[in-house]
Amino acid sequence: MDTPAFEDIVFGIGTFGLVLAFLWLALRRKRSETQELPPSHAAGSSAPAHGNTETPESGSSWWKALSKTRSRFSLGPKTEIKELQLSLEEACLVSDLGVQNTAEALSKLSWTEVARLPEDARLDASKRALGITLKNWLSEAGQGLSSSEWPSRGSDGEPYVLWFVGVNGVGKTTSIAKLASELKSRGFSVLLAAGDTFRAAAGEQLETWAERLGIECVRGAAGADSSSVLFDAIQSARAKKIDFVLCDSAGRLHNQSQLMEALAKNKRVMAKALSSAPHETLLVLDAHTGQNMLAQAKQFQDAVGLSGLILTKLDGSARGGAVVAVARQTHTPIRRLGLGESEKDFTSFEAGAFVDALLGLPEDPKVLSEGLVQSL
Ligand code: GDP
Ligand code: GDP
Ligand code: MG
Repeated sequence: MDTPAFEDIVFGIGTFGLVLAFLWLALRRKRSETQELPPSHAAGSSAPAHGNTETPESGSSWWKALSKTRSRFSLGPKTEIKELQLSLEEACLVSDLGVQNTAEALSKLSWTEVARLPEDARLDASKRALGITLKNWLSEAGQGLSSSEWPSRGSDGEPYVLWFVGVNGVGKTTSIAKLASELKSRGFSVLLAAGDTFRAAAGEQLETWAERLGIECVRGAAGADSSSVLFDAIQSARAKKIDFVLCDSAGRLHNQSQLMEALAKNKRVMAKALSSAPHETLLVLDAHTGQNMLAQAKQFQDAVGLSGLILTKLDGSARGGAVVAVARQTHTPIRRLGLGESEKDFTSFEAGAFVDALLGLPEDPKVLSEGLVQSL
């Protein structure tokens, strides 16, 4: 056997090195993709609605955000009533409407009436009937669900204090920044209170948003008691006649009961700074967590009471049904939806447009479905 020429060895080593370098680069790329991108990208969905220019009232931003849930309800032609029932049931369940809600909503449908309709009209009609039930549930969940006017200032000349609670990572700090940006553009003065003193980075994150938005932020010294930060912020806002104070909070302490105790203390101390504060307690929920939202909502409701919900990360989520479930189960109105990571990816909530976008209801119904819903 010939000994390989020197050039051959160099060529061989070079090729091997190149292949290794390529492999390494490809691996790195794949890892940074899954690590750095938000879950919606990592799951291979479309980009979040960035710089949302549609008016919230138009409903078209929900239309885009709810495309995945809606695709669950594109069931195709069904000839058998039983088949239609099962497909609708499955779509409700996978969109996280919940077992009990699904059963109730479908039992309200008068299937004998549906069966009288021409085959090609049945799916559309039963979706519209389902939509009526979901809209009823949403309007029962609270007054003022058409929330484009929300929040409005109290009439006593004092700052209006909104307190954001929720577990870690749901989007509290981001939602505060989004609402601050919205209020500022509506001509109000706003002050942010960095009430999450548990994580060192949390105050910094809020302060960075405040600087970007040109809004004042009250932040305690490292390790300061969160209640004292909220107290100082409200006092400062009163002295400066600021319209809105948006208060952040921790989403995690050493354990859950400590968190709830700390939040209860936050609430008591806020009332010391201004007896009517907090005017609103908003629970922020990550729509990706589906039915788990219900457990969180119950815990926070029991500990601090809730006046409204903010549902985040609806962009790219296939679980839009959970929005209806959580509003129904907590009897708490939905105030805003988060549709992405920028401050513009935020929209008010209108039950009718939301349900239409969820189920993919056509704007011009050929079949009126009112008669198909039984009042059970
Ligand atoms: P907090 O721990 O509750 O304060 O949560 P953060 O506000 O820090 O948000 C956690 C992560 O979720 C951040 O990466 C945010 O950019 C992201 N986030 C917040 N709201 C949304 C949303 O509506 N859509 C998407 N895609 N990401 C969001
Ligand atoms: P983990 O490892 O992320 O769970 O954090 P640790 O449980 O080690 O706690 C981190 C630090 O936060 C500790 O030094 C605690 O003393 C401190 N800490 C605990 N509770 C609170 C609180 O309510 N407020 C503040 N500011 N710090 C707290
Ligand atoms: Mg935060």
